Formats: sequence, C-alpha cells, structure tokens
Amino acid sequence: MEERPFSDISYEQFLEEERLMGSRCKTCGAFFVPPRPLCIRCHGTDMVWVETEGRGKLSAFTCIAVGPPFMIAEGYDRKHPYCSGVVELDEGVRVVARIEGVDATKPEDIEVGIPLTVRFLHRGEGNQRKTYLAFAPL
Ligand SMILES: [Zn+2]
Repeated sequence: MEERPFSDISYEQFLEEERLMGSRCKTCGAFFVPPRPLCIRCHGTDMVWVETEGRGKLSAFTCIAVGPPFMIAEGYDRKHPYCSGVVELDEGVRVVARIEGVDATKPEDIEVGIPLTVRFLHRGEGNQRKTYLAFAPL
C-alpha cells in the first residue's frame, strides 16, 4: 500500500477498494484528501498514506437538477435532483462528495452539521468502472 504514488489514480483505486485514503505530511502533520505528493503547508515531500475513519459532518451542500451526463444516465433530472456536498471529515479535512440518503427535492429539510458516514458508489463495468465517493446520514 505504501508503495502507491500519492496521485488521483491511487486515490481512485483505494475508493474502488472502499477505502477513503489521504496523505499525511510526516514533517508537519498536515493531512490531504485527495492525497498530495507535496505538502502545501511546509513544502515537505515525506508523505505517508493514512486511511480516514470515513466519518464527518455536512459542511455545505447543493441540490443539482441538471447534472453531468453520467448522472442523467443514473436517472437524475429536474424531477429527481441529487445532492452534492462538502463534508468535513473527523480528521479535519474537507472533501466534496455525493450526499445520499437525503431528499434532494427538499433542500430546506437538509441540515448543515448532520453526521455522515462514507459510502462507495460503484458504477459502470470493465474499463468504464468507476467508484464515486458519497456520504450518507448515520
Ligand atoms: Zn508539511
């Protein structure tokens, strides 16, 4: 595991394995999700993989009625919007993810600050296979 480069490709491979991973700077302790090969705080390059607990709270969100083609292919449209949010992980890092398990047609009922747990959405097959990061209420 430690052999993998700190890249988006490694990050997505870990998602496919249902692990939300980031890189931690061994020099100053800064933590990055998705991982960075270089610390933006101290410019250190001595990074180590750390698996998050996959828990956090909703920091901000938006409900999207007109999404990209792959979301339209999943059946989301004006009548069936989906929710995209920013999740603040317990590790103190913010990640953008799909928010599942909430009613995107009633954004007024979705509360910022609700506790969330990670979900991994596997979509497509073969070369088209991709895993999307999502969170849902506990
Ligand atoms: Zn650092």
